[in-house]
Amino acid sequence: MVRHVYEYWEIWNSCHSEDIIKHRDGHCIHHINGDANDNRIENLQKMLFSEHTKLHHTGKDVPQETKIKMSKAQSGKNHPMYGRQHREESKMRMSISQSGEKNHMYGKHHSEETKRKISENHKDIRGKNNPMYGRRHSEETIIKISEAKKRKNKREEIKCCQL
Ligand SMILES: [Zn+2]
Repeated sequence: MVRHVYEYWEIWNSCHSEDIIKHRDGHCIHHINGDANDNRIENLQKMLFSEHTKLHHTGKDVPQETKIKMSKAQSGKNHPMYGRQHREESKMRMSISQSGEKNHMYGKHHSEETKRKISENHKDIRGKNNPMYGRRHSEETIIKISEAKKRKNKREEIKCCQL
């Protein structure tokens, strides 16, 4: 299948007969102002594929290690659950308030033993009682997601030169 030869390739080639661009010769045409419709010769720049990619990604590549750190940072104050962890004290209050009229056990007697067990359950907020239980992404998944996002960004960023 022959790939479409872009108009701006022809424009470049007509102006740079000594330095023409050929399909798959490792070069591409970059639109200097980022506007792929602006095919004025002064807006066109022939450059190596690899250099072109670099140009579009300067400072945007985040090393793997940093990405892991970033995901970890989201477990902190950026995490949706941040600040929503109950203190022991308020957990106790919750257990008590849930023993009130909204509780399905209302009107039924809780023994001290049962109340203690309920409080114990509420203490286990990091376990299966936590609403986030089982919903945490593994680090591997986080990396996969950010890689996918990066690929998406790449497509969008390079669109300027329609590669
Ligand atoms: Zn470009």
